Amino acid sequence: MWTQRGDWFKALADQGGWDIPKWPKEFGGPDFTPTQRYIFDLEMGKQPTPPQLPFGVGMLAPILMNYGSKAQQDRFLPGIRDGSVNWCQGYSEPGAGSDLANLKTKAELSADGSHYVVNGQKIWTTLAQIAHWIFCLTRTSSDGAKQEGITFLLIPMDDPGVEVRPIITLGGSHSVNEVYFTDVKVPIENRVGEEGKGWTYAKGLLAHERSGLAGIQNSVMGLEKAKRNAQKIRVGAGTLLDLSSFKNKVGVLEAELLALEFTEMRTLARVAAGGDPGPESAILKLKGTEIQQRITELNLEAAGVFAAPWGAEAFGPDFAHGAAQSYLGGRATTIYGGASEVQKDVIAKNVLGLS
Ligand SMILES: Cc1cc2nc3c(=O)[nH]c(=O)nc-3n(C[C@H](O)[C@H](O)[C@H](O)COP(=O)(O)OP(=O)(O)OC[C@H]3O[C@@H](n4cnc5c(N)ncnc54)[C@H](O)[C@@H]3O)c2cc1C
Repeated sequence: MWTQRGDWFKALADQGGWDIPKWPKEFGGPDFTPTQRYIFDLEMGKQPTPPQLPFGVGMLAPILMNYGSKAQQDRFLPGIRDGSVNWCQGYSEPGAGSDLANLKTKAELSADGSHYVVNGQKIWTTLAQIAHWIFCLTRTSSDGAKQEGITFLLIPMDDPGVEVRPIITLGGSHSVNEVYFTDVKVPIENRVGEEGKGWTYAKGLLAHERSGLAGIQNSVMGLEKAKRNAQKIRVGAGTLLDLSSFKNKVGVLEAELLALEFTEMRTLARVAAGGDPGPESAILKLKGTEIQQRITELNLEAAGVFAAPWGAEAFGPDFAHGAAQSYLGGRATTIYGGASEVQKDVIAKNVLGLS
């Protein structure tokens, strides 16, 4: 058994880059084909593996590989890979979430061109409280379309001008934050790519990020667990799972999950043939996150009154403790990574061709 998180990732690395399955060979990855990667993810999803934060490995690293300088790749990729440097994603702002290009955090180039001075605010920044660095979309120009004039900067969180304020969410947890920048000096070598091209760099990855949020394998396992939980609750001569009203919900979810797996495979076939995930990734995000929420609802229903104790000592069946927190915390899945209503717009316009 793996006693340490590090042991696990080292064992994966020893297999030839399995700790970074999405990275190409030149950066130490295994160069999996899309199909191999799918199978790898599927099998990993079945194991109780330690989590790997997505911000560095999954989000920033591909941007650095595609658009960063050699110096930036050499400086940042090793810490991302071994998990010694935590990153957070500074995109959203008050007034710039779904309409991200509306962002206002200002980065002004100094007269001698050696650094930017950053002022503004980010919001909903996941795990900013443990991050060493933040990758940020900032505004360097207001001329032209709002997607232009956006610049991608890397900012250390220990700069005295960076302030993190916690946001406690509905489920009672502290995972998101506000991040304020006051006259933060960012050296020019921390700019990724060209000034004003940040939108292009960030946007290319959003479809991949969305597909990843579907979490199908987790839901398959979560639904099986919810069924086992329901079998622990006696109802009359049987269990909650025997009750037709409950069983129907489980059946509908199983059918929808299966349909989603096939949608994911269609996306995979497109990527395997050398294409992009395409707008169908919006279906994966939309349905995948709705299903995740409905599984938390099943657990809440099964836990019944035993889900009510909040922060108190657990009683009732073991799964009941935390069922309410999971249910409430899970409301966020249909918001982050692109809200459901926006995914529906994407599907209507780009998949169904409605205008
Ligand atoms: C738990 C959590 C973690 C997050 N982590 C991060 C992070 O680490 N980094 C980061 O940068 N951001 C993060 N976010 C922010 C997230 O990406 C935004 O919340 C999301 O994009 C929605 O933006 P918004 O909150 O500004 O809502 P808004 O965009 O203001 O939307 C409000 C409502 O209006 C609807 N709406 C908006 N536009 C349209 C439209 N065109 N058509 C129909 N309906 C529309 C939305 O669907 C929503 O219901 C996180 C959010 C949450 C909840």
